[in-house]
Amino acid sequence: MQREAIDAARRILREEGYGIPVDVEGIARARNVTVVRQELDDSVSGVLVVKAGHGIIGVNDRHHPNRQRFTIAHELAHYLLHQECSDLFVDRSPVFFRDETSSGGVKQQEIAANAFAAELLMPREELKERLNERPIDALDDMSIRRLAARFGVSAQALTIRLTRLGLVPDWVSAEVG
Ligand SMILES: [Zn+2]
Repeated sequence: MQREAIDAARRILREEGYGIPVDVEGIARARNVTVVRQELDDSVSGVLVVKAGHGIIGVNDRHHPNRQRFTIAHELAHYLLHQECSDLFVDRSPVFFRDETSSGGVKQQEIAANAFAAELLMPREELKERLNERPIDALDDMSIRRLAARFGVSAQALTIRLTRLGLVPDWVSAEVG
């Protein structure tokens, strides 16, 4: 399921062509999905409603813009991959920091949606290329932040991503987390 989600994200990036930061809202719009920023309970990152094949993503407008981008990508994954299972998804935060190895209540769909969002916003090939051009010092907070800002993601999301891809050593995420 995770594999499928990552492939779906790559396919979209390939079809759209893309710049960094990836225009996640443009991608959603191109797929008949409307994004609405709204006041939501602080514990809710985002919701997806599917009506007659049309998707509406509600994003918590009080969350940081980078976090909103991740939420939009996550909800888009539910729309593209899971709408046959349900027409309503409510994601409580922090959805994206759940460890994929942790057990208990972590649904496969959520793991898949996070994998999709990570690949969409921080494409593996793009990250590898940038790190080849300009290696980052994993100990240097600023270099992580700079790279995160370029991709429009939080430093924490980027660190988790780099660790999972094996592009920085494991202990780094423990430091930032
Ligand atoms: Zn979700």
